[in-house]
Amino acid sequence: MTNNVKISLNDIKELVTNIFLKQGCNQENANALANTITKAEEDGSSSHGLFRLPGYVASLKSGKVNGHASPKVVNKTAVILKCDADNGFASTSHEVALPLLAEAAKKNGISVLSITGCYHFAALWPETEFLAKNNLVGFACTAFKPSVAPAGAKEPFFGTNPISMAWPKKNDYPVVFDMATATMAKGEVMIAARDGHMLPDGVGLGENGQPSNDPKDILKGVLLPFGGYKGSAISMMVELFAAGLTGDAFSYEAQENDNNDGGPPKGGEFIMAMNPEIIAEPNWEDHCNDFFQKLSAIKGVRLPGSRRHKNRDSDQYRFINEELLTKVKSYLS
Ligand code: NDP
Repeated sequence: MTNNVKISLNDIKELVTNIFLKQGCNQENANALANTITKAEEDGSSSHGLFRLPGYVASLKSGKVNGHASPKVVNKTAVILKCDADNGFASTSHEVALPLLAEAAKKNGISVLSITGCYHFAALWPETEFLAKNNLVGFACTAFKPSVAPAGAKEPFFGTNPISMAWPKKNDYPVVFDMATATMAKGEVMIAARDGHMLPDGVGLGENGQPSNDPKDILKGVLLPFGGYKGSAISMMVELFAAGLTGDAFSYEAQENDNNDGGPPKGGEFIMAMNPEIIAEPNWEDHCNDFFQKLSAIKGVRLPGSRRHKNRDSDQYRFINEELLTKVKSYLS
């Protein structure tokens, strides 16, 4: 039986900011991380909110991550931006680089950003939703450490390799999907293990290489890509975008370089912004809105991202696992 504690989003943000300041971040980095964690809790993405805080702290304590990171962005061309994350968490790079990426796409129609030397431990929708709120189409992906077996294999090679895309929507939240290319994000499997829930078929193989529904067994074994060989191919492409194109580490290289302190490994992130005002026809917004209206009118259909947006529009309190909250608060002392 899990006990949850009611806490306001403002209190979460203040608590998290103070923890990161205490654990060696400067104000800029503490604020960026607190924003990321609070946004996840606000949207009900609990596997990427406070649940990740012990990992962030472990990486600061081990000295792996620079809590004073000062990311630098350079333009290789007018539309190709590179951000050196200065060994910091990805959140700080996003705050610095995303406005520049958006500006370049607004002016030129398309722009891409490679972030290198960063530690990404969060959901990806904040990046793509930021772009879509600027009336741009957004795409983002990042690799991790091997925990997913390519189709046909029983051993991990791909990370859980998330991919997110967002589309601007007139007078409404953008349409945003954000998913692990594993059948389920590892954080969700860890939460199921903590809370004692069994998982649906197809999430992973247990320690003995056989299909399992037990999250504890799967965490000792391997996760599977969504959709068999099709998801496996998309996961492969995420490796190529996030490492081949940015020049940073593939998941297996990230594993080799990592100190396994419980936090994220160092790697890259690839983000792209496209401006429909330049690429598309003048009626693109109404045209796409009609499409979304027809799609959502089908019985049983909901748009991706709508669950999170509904959470965001609910009250400003969240229910957090009591044990987790106690652990999080212990980092203040
Ligand atoms: P889910 O499977 O819960 O959801 C994936 C997407 O599908 C979401 O956009 C979700 O929208 C949408 N969706 C879910 N159900 C429906 C439905 N019935 N109809 C239409 N759309 C639906 O997410 P995952 O478990 O795959 O991933 C969770 C998070 O983990 C992501 O935010 C991802 O970025 C993060 N992650 C981060 C990693 C990292 O290295 N940084 C690694 C792996 C994952 P909605 O949100 O509205 O439910």
